[in-house]
Amino acid sequence: MTAAFPAVMPTYARAEIGFERGEGPYLWGTDGRRYLDFTCGIAVTALGHAHPHLIKEVTAQMNKVWHTSNVFPIAQQEKLAERLVAATFADTVFFGNSGAEANECGIKVVRKFHAHHGHPERYRIITFEGAFHGRTLATLAAGGQKKYLEGFGPVVPGFDQVAFGDLKLVEAAIGPETAGILIEPVQGEGGVRVVPNDFLQGLRDLCDQHGLLLFFDEIQTGMGRSGKLFAYEWTGVTPDVMTVAKALGNGFPVGACLATAKAAVGMVAGTHGSTYGGNPLATAAGNAVLDVMLAPDFFDGVEKLASHMKQQLHGLVQRHPDIFEDARGLGLLLGLKCKVPNTDVVKALRKEGLLTVAAGDNVVRVLAPLIAEAKHVSEAIDAIDKGCAALRAELPARKAG
Ligand SMILES: *Cc1c(COP(=O)(O)O)cnc(C)c1O
Repeated sequence: MTAAFPAVMPTYARAEIGFERGEGPYLWGTDGRRYLDFTCGIAVTALGHAHPHLIKEVTAQMNKVWHTSNVFPIAQQEKLAERLVAATFADTVFFGNSGAEANECGIKVVRKFHAHHGHPERYRIITFEGAFHGRTLATLAAGGQKKYLEGFGPVVPGFDQVAFGDLKLVEAAIGPETAGILIEPVQGEGGVRVVPNDFLQGLRDLCDQHGLLLFFDEIQTGMGRSGKLFAYEWTGVTPDVMTVAKALGNGFPVGACLATAKAAVGMVAGTHGSTYGGNPLATAAGNAVLDVMLAPDFFDGVEKLASHMKQQLHGLVQRHPDIFEDARGLGLLLGLKCKVPNTDVVKALRKEGLLTVAAGDNVVRVLAPLIAEAKHVSEAIDAIDKGCAALRAELPARKAG
């Protein structure tokens, strides 16, 4: 043991404060202060903290049985799968514990589909620059970001990355080994970049022409973040495979890979597995989240809040043209593109009691929980105005220094 090395492997550059308690949109810090949480644990705690219904349901399950393994049928898992199937294009669901695992399953579904039909040579998946699909070896290869791949040995083969938004490049990348196309309807980590509907429709058409599977990564956009249960509902484009995680358990680790029966045709007994995946606790959490999100009118409120929030962010861009370049996003997956380093903005906002999270392309993600109210939005906008003033006061000093 080397004394200087931290007990927690130091793979994160962490903020200086942690949190002891949460309630609704707020978190209480180890510094004794209350913070408005517009990070939501990176788009996870969409229903806020300490949600009474979630506590009730997960506690009830906790008192019955936590885990049995997928050797046995799991009633809570079947119920959650049936509800996701009823709410989407999909016919079938595999549960894992994280987003990356959900994507691993999706990649396997895409490859197995072609192998099942006698074409194991069709295994390559087209992905897009700026994408993020997770930190396992295959999902890193799919994301294709050099800074994350660096030092981890040979890149897992089978992914062809093309520039964002050019259908001609996608068509040119399709070859005899191509199996599918993987895309986030809105790039989250990549900087809140919304993919235009006509581009997604173009991908659907290319998939249909070439016998490819269309695979949407809705790990960040899904479970209400877009203002509908899933972002694809806005687009008029239906995928064959879709992954979900983040807000599915509102913080209880759970991920899911959804697919049509046609796409999942080869995924029979023995082809895939997970010890924990979809265990009674995780799927009780998922069912509790759906109880809230599937209630009539839930999304009416979310859509109203989202359009209010976006308007307010555009106002910020006008008031602080030296700090912000643009406001963008879909639903409550919103971002401010910055003219100063985004990490400085995140820090300045934290000093004002507002938690946000940086993304690629010098963007600050402003991720309100879906249960936020107009007064919380006002509080956030106030904090951003103050944070901008503080940043501006620092700017000349920094230039001089
Ligand atoms: C967060 C995220 C992932 C990875 O999820 P993990 O739970 O961290 O493995 C994959 N894809 C997208 C779009 C994400 O936002």
